[in-house]
Amino acid sequence: MAPMAPMNERERTEWVSGKAREAGFDLCGVAPASRFPELERMTEWLERGHAGEMRYLHDPRRLSLDRAMEGAKSVIVCAASYRTAEPLSTEVLASPDTARPRGWISRYGWGDDYHDVMLPRLRILLNAMREEFGEEFRAHAYVDTGPVVERVAAKYAGLGWLAKNTCLINQKMGSFLFLGAIVTTLAFEPTLGPAEAPPPDLCGSCRRCIDACPTQAFVEPYVMDPRRCIAYFTIELRTSIPEEFRPAMGQMVFGCDICQDVCPWNQKAARTGESTLGRIPEFRPRVILPPSGADTPVRAPLSPLREESTARNDCASETAEASRSLFAPEIEWIASLDEEEYRRVFRRSPVKRAKYRGLIRNACVALGNSGPGLEPEARERIVKLLERLAASPDELIAEHARWALDRLNGQVAAKGL
Ligand code: SF4
Ligand code: SF4
Repeated sequence: MAPMAPMNERERTEWVSGKAREAGFDLCGVAPASRFPELERMTEWLERGHAGEMRYLHDPRRLSLDRAMEGAKSVIVCAASYRTAEPLSTEVLASPDTARPRGWISRYGWGDDYHDVMLPRLRILLNAMREEFGEEFRAHAYVDTGPVVERVAAKYAGLGWLAKNTCLINQKMGSFLFLGAIVTTLAFEPTLGPAEAPPPDLCGSCRRCIDACPTQAFVEPYVMDPRRCIAYFTIELRTSIPEEFRPAMGQMVFGCDICQDVCPWNQKAARTGESTLGRIPEFRPRVILPPSGADTPVRAPLSPLREESTARNDCASETAEASRSLFAPEIEWIASLDEEEYRRVFRRSPVKRAKYRGLIRNACVALGNSGPGLEPEARERIVKLLERLAASPDELIAEHARWALDRLNGQVAAKGL
């Protein structure tokens, strides 16, 4: 049999997109590994000090893909939706539970660590490329793990636009997307033709995300200052959360979804079923069994219906002693975790990035913000818990617990940011 003719660049792009779908990705596109204008503007953003404690953002290799890999010709960008069926933070927190206040873990933190889900899928793709393409080439897969700004590459691979809330939005699937990239020295035909512009910016005159941000983190449309962002405070910051921002943090214990939850493109995707509604089971909320139960967390059942999902949460509340979900968990449960239980609950979870003391610190702030509508019994319980935490040998936890007690007692008012 005559050997098959090698694929041309266009055929390679079609082939890799098909393989990406087989590997479980919802979207795939290819961009040339060129210098993207957004990356060139990054220096100014860094000079303004917006990176805060995130020193890795200063890595000069992030400024262009050819700095990340010498001789790079293409970047293959893949996306997987984590828009599960559960309601949005704006819906859940709009009617607070005054008996058992609920906190919010950012949607991306409900399931398994996305690195552990995305990277093996990218490696499947990479191995298939090595088997399929006879020639020698270099390639490396990244999921937030190296000097590649995936969302910028995703724009030039035709996956969406960079929105005013700084996320990549796909017109059909919204912005709850995990992104991964393979940078390679192989040449592919870019998904966008030479005369084709990236997908248009469909934010228009909307500014819901900017107006809804509780800490006014957007210094202007498309520019966010992480040093004002709840996600930065609750995940990246290792020290004390600036007091002026604590009241505005509300019930957020890990991250914040508000600027995505208010976005009409996410609401539209959910309503029309354009998103895959958490098709990858590892992204669905973990249900944590008591220590005597299974060691591995189980998953909330897959349901595209919000009503069922809400009912499931009510049901979880009734059986709170039996199991806990990472979807809108009770703040008292989070604040009461000891280190061993924390490690068990958040094994291979994105929430581990906050570290134990960071998460308890965040839960103290959320408890401080849980008044004034609390039922007397709940208030008494929470005060006792905070008094215990205020006696913690860890001054970071103790100080935030003292602040929360003062706030519950009305001695700390919300300051207008
Ligand atoms: S994640 Fe929350 S705090 Fe951060 S910019 Fe968005 S709305 Fe503001
Ligand atoms: S809320 Fe409006 S302005 Fe913000 S990202 Fe969505 S469409 Fe754009």
